[in-house]
Amino acid sequence: MPLHTVTPLLESAPLSRIVGRSVWLKMESMQPAASFKMRGMGLAAERAVASGATQLVSSSGGNAGYAVACAGRALGVPVTVVVPTTTAPRMRSLIAATGAEVRVAGTVWDEAHREATNLADQCGGVLMHPFDHPDIWEGHASVITEVHDSGIEPGCVVVAVGGGGLLAGVLHGIDQAGWSTTRVVAVETEGTA
Ligand SMILES: *Cc1c(COP(=O)(O)O)cnc(C)c1O
Repeated sequence: MPLHTVTPLLESAPLSRIVGRSVWLKMESMQPAASFKMRGMGLAAERAVASGATQLVSSSGGNAGYAVACAGRALGVPVTVVVPTTTAPRMRSLIAATGAEVRVAGTVWDEAHREATNLADQCGGVLMHPFDHPDIWEGHASVITEVHDSGIEPGCVVVAVGGGGLLAGVLHGIDQAGWSTTRVVAVETEGTA
């Protein structure tokens, strides 16, 4: 059973009014772990455990780490999340509340990722990359599959982009749905370049 949930697709009256055509919001904040990350990280974690992983290690101090922590809890495997010093105390305690171990290393994600890689090597855990894996893209694609199942074929999908995992999943989903004229606008969060 997938670890993510099917989310509502709601038409936003104020946004539709501003844009002059229907704008729909996919309510990914309602996912377990509060973001779309559960789709891809959940599938990747499920497959890792099915292939024998007994420990999961994540290098994300954000929603990806939180999703791995929740996935590990659901799957009954221990999780260690290595976060940089910049990860907010609130996110650290959300991750810790799942039962995952939170370790702090480095000031930026690259440094935390290096430490997580070493840790996974040492403890024999599986390193869960936050965006760069085909299982993640396949899992994220389900956000589009659900829109397709609801019978809506959008003219355009607007998607946030950081590492590009969600974007890859959305493109994969659009390809699977067979939408040939749907455009995709990727919006990069300031500071993630
Ligand atoms: C992870 C995340 C992103 C960026 O996703 P990528 O797959 O890294 O491009 C954008 N917004 C939110 C809320 C996220 O959790």
